[in-house]
Amino acid sequence: MDLRKKLIVKPGSSLKLKDIDASFHGNYKSKEDAIKDLEKNRNSMGELQQKLYGEKKHALLIVLQGIDAAGKDGVCWHVMQSMNPQGTFVKGFKQPTEIEKRHDFLWRIHPFTPGLGQVIVFNRSHYEDVLVVRVHDLVPKEVWSKRYELINDFEKMLSSNNVTILKFFLYITPEEQLKRFRKRLDDPSRQWKISDADYKERAFWDEYTAAYEDMLNKCSTEQAPWYVIPSNHKWFRNVAISQIIADTLTDMHLQLPAPTVDIEEIRKLYHKAKQDKE
Ligand code: AMP
Ligand code: MG
Repeated sequence: MDLRKKLIVKPGSSLKLKDIDASFHGNYKSKEDAIKDLEKNRNSMGELQQKLYGEKKHALLIVLQGIDAAGKDGVCWHVMQSMNPQGTFVKGFKQPTEIEKRHDFLWRIHPFTPGLGQVIVFNRSHYEDVLVVRVHDLVPKEVWSKRYELINDFEKMLSSNNVTILKFFLYITPEEQLKRFRKRLDDPSRQWKISDADYKERAFWDEYTAAYEDMLNKCSTEQAPWYVIPSNHKWFRNVAISQIIADTLTDMHLQLPAPTVDIEEIRKLYHKAKQDKE
């Protein structure tokens, strides 16, 4: 199954999240099958990133959004682990600082966009400025409603600089979220993740849904598409995202750069050095 085709939000869509099955798992019959493919995809991602890093003609920006416990941190860990930290990093965006608030909303984002040769993951992003900010009226509607277009322009500008942008919306149901909160309560190794905001935000589920739908419908563009990743099954979420990243990198036809020296000449120097030592 071509997961890019299946999960992409076509530009100009008017999708409703209620029409999407958060438990969808493609052709995978079992978690074990999905994990085998995840392994394969991670290997390809590692090899392709090496080429992207060497070639320095492309950059990849991966944007993760999703409600609390949707699995953004899990993707950073389980999907991104095969990439070499030299050339990759994850940038999380939290509540803006007082200084950041005095600037336009993209001011704090731009410095973390990837340079050629880099892969950067945004764990939350500029989209918070049309999500939490909208749901909680942190700025007036006339301010946030203009941001969709500003975001599209910003992403277009990045893509004209050879930054490929992949945006993943991790979609879970409220029941699945509650199950995950329960796990956090019961498992001491997960308790540090609990915040009381998580429960407060649940009360705004419908408002978040409306904000997510606008984000997906207004900001899925040719150059920076959104993918809705059914994420009730963590194993499907991971394999789907890894597949889309691997396919996207493959399509870049990345090439390692040609050597900058005359290899035959260097070979002679090597043999001479070896003989001298002997
Ligand atoms: P977490 O990702 O769970 O560590 O939480 C980060 C928090 O920062 C979330 O509650 C986000 O909604 C919040 N946040 C991120 N960006 C913004 C923003 N631009 N304005 C307000 N809150 C934000
Ligand atoms: Mg959280």
